[in-house]
Amino acid sequence: MYFSSLDTRIDDTIYKNLRLGFIWASKISLITLMLITIVIWVDFFNKENSNLLLTTVNFGIQGLLFVFGLVFFVQNKTLKHYKIISSIYALLFGTTWGGAIINLNNLGHAYVIVEIVGNLLFLVVLLSFYTYRMAVYLATLPILVFTTWYSIADPRFDLLFAFTKLAITIIIIESGRQLLFKWFTTRIKQEHENQRLLKQLAQLSFTDQLTKINNRRFFDFTIDKQIINAKHHRIPLSIILIDVDYFKRFNDTQGHVNGDACLKSVATTISRSLLRNNDTVSRYGGEEFVVLLPNTDINGARRVAERIKQNLATLAIIHPSSDINDYVTVSQGIATWEMNQRPNQFINEADNHLYNAKEAGRNQYCSTKK
Ligand code: GH3
Ligand code: MG
Ligand code: MG
Repeated sequence: MYFSSLDTRIDDTIYKNLRLGFIWASKISLITLMLITIVIWVDFFNKENSNLLLTTVNFGIQGLLFVFGLVFFVQNKTLKHYKIISSIYALLFGTTWGGAIINLNNLGHAYVIVEIVGNLLFLVVLLSFYTYRMAVYLATLPILVFTTWYSIADPRFDLLFAFTKLAITIIIIESGRQLLFKWFTTRIKQEHENQRLLKQLAQLSFTDQLTKINNRRFFDFTIDKQIINAKHHRIPLSIILIDVDYFKRFNDTQGHVNGDACLKSVATTISRSLLRNNDTVSRYGGEEFVVLLPNTDINGARRVAERIKQNLATLAIIHPSSDINDYVTVSQGIATWEMNQRPNQFINEADNHLYNAKEAGRNQYCSTKK
């Protein structure tokens, strides 16, 4: 399972949110531009204004920018250099809207229009770009400059008023942005933690608590998938069923605690005997293990069984009450999947060979003669 780091996840989500923000800001801007254009054209028929054509051209160019932004961000679901591109777009967004504000003012509309449009734009910028501080400031800066300039130029207000308003606006934008961003990161951290817990849970549910290798659930889950895979790709699939010899006697003479430790060592030794990444070992029952060998024929499986036997001989866990050796040994039953064999038939075949290995004197492996 792919599990990205928290930083990568935050970065990914920042882009996803910014992208949606750009799409929304472009749509809203297009609608607003259209409405303003309609209003000033209606106005034109009431009182003539020579700046109208210039304003319409200005709005047209601005509209094209928003259409371009809309199409660009709808198409680019992931973007490598999104911070640079976002910054450029945010700056163009702020500057063209700043230009529109100048034009509105030139058309003879009152200061109040500049204020209303400016404040609405701050709201749009904050809601769209809050995940990226640079974008917020590049977009608001030109608008802030123009609106402040107008309040300085307005004879009704003095300089103190203009700068107080500017300071309050910046405080509101920054604190609002931080609030939204905090909410945003908290949500991602929660989601990240949930995914980590889910992954841990999945791992736990597939792990045997004593030996820390896979458990029976894992084997049952995997064998079905491997059979489908073998059938689909027409590749061999083998299993080895392993049972510790005279383990009841081991417990009786060495005690259960040593019995548990012995099972752990046997599990680790079997695990180490598997060389391919796709080979797995699971604890099948009490002192029984099952090895699943994808893309391995009967001869390959016999080699693995031999390696397990040799590695246990090297490990040589003392077993004084065994009839066949003075160290812990195992018996193994090998089966290779045959076309259309059901999982339980396949396991039964390995189990029969395991029985044969026990009957034949233990510390050995048996398989179909092929
Ligand atoms: P055989 O050679 O025929 O396999 O003889 P055996 O004694 O190994 O066979 P049997 O199946 O009768 O005994 C298995 C024993 O494994 C019984 C049980 O006490 C022991 N066992 C099963 N699970 C655990 C475990 O988790 N810890 C310990 N210490 N012993 C276990
Ligand atoms: Mg047994
Ligand atoms: Mg046994």
